[in-house]
Amino acid sequence: MASLPKTMKALRYEKPEVWGIVDVPLPTLRPGDVLIKVKACGVCGTDLHIHEGEFIAEFPLIPGHETIGEVVGFSDDVKGFKIGDRVAADNSELCGHCFYCRRGEELLCEDFKAHGVLGLDGGFAEYCSYPQGRLFKINNLSDVDATLIEPASCAMHGLEKIAPKPGSHALLIGAGPTGLMMAQFLYLTVLHRKHSGVSQLTIAAPGGPKMDLAKSLDAADKYVALDRKDATPQWEQIKKDNPYGFDIVVEASGSAKVLEDAINYVRRGGKLVCYGVYPSAARVSWPPSKIFGDEITIIGSFSETFMFPATVDYLDSGKVKTKGIVNKTFKLEQWGEALESIRNKSAIKAAIVFD
Ligand SMILES: [Zn+2]
Ligand SMILES: [Zn+2]
Repeated sequence: MASLPKTMKALRYEKPEVWGIVDVPLPTLRPGDVLIKVKACGVCGTDLHIHEGEFIAEFPLIPGHETIGEVVGFSDDVKGFKIGDRVAADNSELCGHCFYCRRGEELLCEDFKAHGVLGLDGGFAEYCSYPQGRLFKINNLSDVDATLIEPASCAMHGLEKIAPKPGSHALLIGAGPTGLMMAQFLYLTVLHRKHSGVSQLTIAAPGGPKMDLAKSLDAADKYVALDRKDATPQWEQIKKDNPYGFDIVVEASGSAKVLEDAINYVRRGGKLVCYGVYPSAARVSWPPSKIFGDEITIIGSFSETFMFPATVDYLDSGKVKTKGIVNKTFKLEQWGEALESIRNKSAIKAAIVFD
């Protein structure tokens, strides 16, 4: 193992909103663990929720769950990695023996741990360690663009849950980073005409940089710019243009109010996907008679397991485009500014970068 320092800089939260850049010991490797030097780690809405104490997180915590790095060491029993390999880290660790794991439903693991979120330190630090089975090699993507692999894997999981029928019409509400990934995955099925998929995709989101980016990525057929103050006219137009609604409506804005209304755009027999990070206290009210009579399926999609191989294929090969989505980068010391760029939406997506 190359000579490594004894300590590293890390962003550490003692509790919600109380953070500092501190010196901590390097992670200790368990059998099967690989040590990486972090190159970039994405900042996402979840980090803001963690900061505010709004998300299932345990403190103290080194956050960061979209980690890209370079292999700098590993335990003796690790196979298939060498020093210098560039890797993306899947952040979850599953117990393997609880009620759900035994049923092959690992995402629902009762002892679900996730680097940077729950019980394990994450990538807003100079070094981080992961089990070898949770690291995936990358070749072409830049470190910064590769931070999208984790959010894209969540979108891939969502796609698997939606399982679009051939010829589906879909409406995606919101054009944030994971929305843009979801859009491309849905739409890829059109371009490649391979598997079941969406034949027409509409994105509805506030006009601005995210929507412009969606267009430049060629992520959909139709784009509806929603007025931030009052989007009633645009929603009325969507209704007019799509009198039968959509087979699939994905609510990716995280607004419970928008989610509540979204059911009115679901075609009979269609699916409504709850895909935003909603405040824990938010509630929606839907007429059960509509869900019953129109046979509407409500789908929740949260996080992912085992989606990295597919996602790395799509992103590292350039089939799914990443350029321009991460439009702000910060040093670890600029954590406050990074958080603010997510809060005030000046960043489409931000990342912390290391030398
Ligand atoms: Zn995230
Ligand atoms: Zn489990």
